[in-house]
Amino acid sequence: MVMVLGLSGAFSVKSVKKLLSSSLQQHIPNSFVWNNWVPRKVNIFGWRLALDRLPTRVALAHRNINMASIRCPLCGDKDESTSHLFAECFVSSVVWEMVSSWLKIPPIYAFTSEDLLRVHQNITGPAAMKKMVQAIILTSCWSLWKQRNDTIFYGNRVDISRIFAEIKSTSFLWVKNRAKMYSLEWSDWCSFNVL
Ligand SMILES: [Zn+2]
Repeated sequence: MVMVLGLSGAFSVKSVKKLLSSSLQQHIPNSFVWNNWVPRKVNIFGWRLALDRLPTRVALAHRNINMASIRCPLCGDKDESTSHLFAECFVSSVVWEMVSSWLKIPPIYAFTSEDLLRVHQNITGPAAMKKMVQAIILTSCWSLWKQRNDTIFYGNRVDISRIFAEIKSTSFLWVKNRAKMYSLEWSDWCSFNVL
C-alpha cells in the first residue's frame, strides 16, 4: 500500500493532488490530447505514439530483441524508428500530402510524431474543426501502423491509395457516430465540406 504524506508526515488531499498531477505530467505528454471522436484503442495508440513507446523494429532492437531486419516495412529504405515510420518515410509523406489536400489545410511537414500530433493546434477555425483534424491525424497514424503490421505479418503489399481510402472511410464512420453528426453525408466528407 502506498501512503501519501505531506511535509508534516500527515496524509493530505493537497499531497495526493500533487502526486497525481506530477505522475500525470510524467505519463501524458503535452502533445497528446484525448479525442473522443476516435475509439479508445486509437487514443491509447496515439498516447503510446506521443511517448515513443510503439514496438517499431528500432525500438525492439534497442530492447535486445533479435530482429532479422530493422528496415522500414513501408519503404524498405531506412531503419524503422517512430519518427521515420510516421513522418520521414516516403509512404507517410505521400499520405500526409493526400490528407492535407483533402482537408484543405497547409501542407503537413512533420519531422517527428510530435509534429503530427500538434498539427490540429495550428488550424484556424472553430474548435470542432481542430478536433476533427486531430481525429483524422490520429486515424491516419492508426492506418499507417495497420498497413505496417499487415506488411510485416501477412506480407501485404504497401498500397498508398488503399491507406488513404481507409483513412477517409474509417474517420467518416468514427466522426459521424461519435460526434453525433448523423446528417453528415459521405460526399460532403470526401470534399470536406463539413462545418
Ligand atoms: Zn519508410
